[in-house]
Formats: sequence, C-alpha cells, structure tokens
Amino acid sequence: MSDDRVHNLMEKIFPYLDTVETPEKDLLSILAVLQLNPSELSTLRKAEDTEPNPDVYKSQYLTVYHLISHSDKLSIAERMSNTFRALMYTYLLEEKTDFLYEMEPELKSFIPQLILRFMESFPFNAIGQSQWDEERQKPISYARAILPSISLCNHSCDPNAVPVTMTGSSCKTAILAMKPLKPGDEIRISYKPIFYMQNHPDRFEFLKRSFYFECACEPCVKGWEMPDRELDFRFVKPEYLLNKNGAKRKTKKSKLEHEYLKQLEEELQDIKEEVEKRENLVQNLQKVSDILNNLYTQYNSLLPLAQVAQHLFKRILVFIIVGYNSCANS
Ligand SMILES: [Zn+2]
Repeated sequence: MSDDRVHNLMEKIFPYLDTVETPEKDLLSILAVLQLNPSELSTLRKAEDTEPNPDVYKSQYLTVYHLISHSDKLSIAERMSNTFRALMYTYLLEEKTDFLYEMEPELKSFIPQLILRFMESFPFNAIGQSQWDEERQKPISYARAILPSISLCNHSCDPNAVPVTMTGSSCKTAILAMKPLKPGDEIRISYKPIFYMQNHPDRFEFLKRSFYFECACEPCVKGWEMPDRELDFRFVKPEYLLNKNGAKRKTKKSKLEHEYLKQLEEELQDIKEEVEKRENLVQNLQKVSDILNNLYTQYNSLLPLAQVAQHLFKRILVFIIVGYNSCANS
C-alpha cells in the first residue's frame, strides 16, 4: 500500500490513539498491518504457524510475520491487555477508516490476530534508528524500525558489528563490522548492554527481563570486568588496561610492547584529529582498520584501546557513507 494511503489512514485514527497513550510497539504494529494489501494479508493468513521454511525469504511480509516473539512468557494479564488493545485498534480501523471496507469476513477477523502478533514480536525486533546531531558528536534516536535481516543477529556484550542508519532519500540500515571478521564468524550486535559500560549483573538482569535469555557471550562467561573509569573518546593509558580475564593489573609489558602501544595511541590521536577535520577519511579508515587488526590479533587483551579504535572506525565509516558529500563541501 502506498505511503500516502497509510499516512491517510493513520491520520484518521491517530486522534483516538493519542488520547489513550498508545505504546510505540502498538503504533508500529498498526502501521505494519496497514502496509498490507488484501492479497498479502491473505498470504499471511495462510502462513503456517510453524517453523519458517526457506520460502519465508521469498516474501518480505512473511519474514516479518515469522519474527520471534515471547508470547508464551507473558503473564495472562499482559496477554489480555494486548488482546483487548488489538481488538480496539481493529474497531477503530473499521469505524473511522475504509481499510476494512469490502474486506472478506475471514480476512477481517484476521486483522486483530495480526496486530496482536506484531505487538508481541516487535518489542524483541525493533531496531532503533538514529542520526548524528548537528555537530556530529552523538547519535540522536528518532524512530524504530522492523528489519528482519538484522533481527537474525544474536546479541553479544562485546559485539563485532553494529547497525547503522544511512539517512537521506533511501534511509537504509546496514550492518557494519567493527572488528576484522573471518569466514564463519557469527555476526553479533548488541541489544543494548556493552560490557565496558555496564557491569555483568546489570547486563544479565536487563537481557533476562527485556529479551528473556541468559547472556552467555564471552564477556559474560569469562567475567570481564568494567574498566576503572568510564571510557569515552579519550585515550586510555596502559595502566588502565585490563587483561583478558578482566583482572586489573600493573602493566609489566616489555619495553618493546610498551613503545609499540604508545605509537598506536599516538597514531590514533593523529587520526582522531584528522577525522574531526574530516580530512582523508578513506586513508584514515584504512589506517584504523590496520590498527584494529593488530590490536585484535596480537593484543586481544587491550580492549579499551581497541574500543577507541572501533569508535573511530565507526565514525569514519558513517562520515563516508552518510555525509561524504556534505563533508566534502564543508
Ligand atoms: Zn553478555
């Protein structure tokens, strides 16, 4: 269905949704249903409610239909409330719009089921969309989107990839690798917690409560600890670095290794300055990529420095993909 038509339908029911503080997941679910025409709705109605098979990938609507939900873990009260709201939204669509007008009765009765299904799967699959603020210093969240291929990625508290929204006319989201990946490596994004920003009990509790799983990623299993102080875009001195098991330690590195690290820090500092001026982004991307490669292959324990390099890597990529034209002109 065209965007104009969906916008038009939403406009008719929005005043009613607004008075009852409709949750974001409900709005997304209604929007998703309104995108579908009767033949697509009919395909979904016939979709077997079993494990998705490869045919799922022939239709973008089936991939959304088969997204994971945890309905069985909701309380009866939550399910009742969701069901009631799905029925209420269908009632609004019927009374205030022509969306269900002339729709076959069996399709009509499928609408509340579909809204409910989406309401219960979208909270586990919606991906935040953000873009840089005017100074390009921090990302500002402006929407959530359902992107079934990104939903295939599992979580890690030490992710090796990150979804990045490319704004502009197409507004696409891509997964960018933040570490060198070997064939067969699992691509893991973070569902929010990152080990160097949140301690293990808090991460564990958040993931259990919000996504119903017990995280068994490397930092969680091996008990990596948070660094002494918050990491940001500053550079970290070697004595703050942690070994792989997370224990704090005095650095007893050989002189050679220490010199090498110092050199890496200096190189990163130089690159940071160039990135801030947005100069030579492509060459700098290559340099950071080499540094990251070194850090991960030889100095896996030097995570804070690697995180700084990752952050730079991601920023340069975003500059290049999203804002290269505007950067080139400025
Ligand atoms: Zn974890």
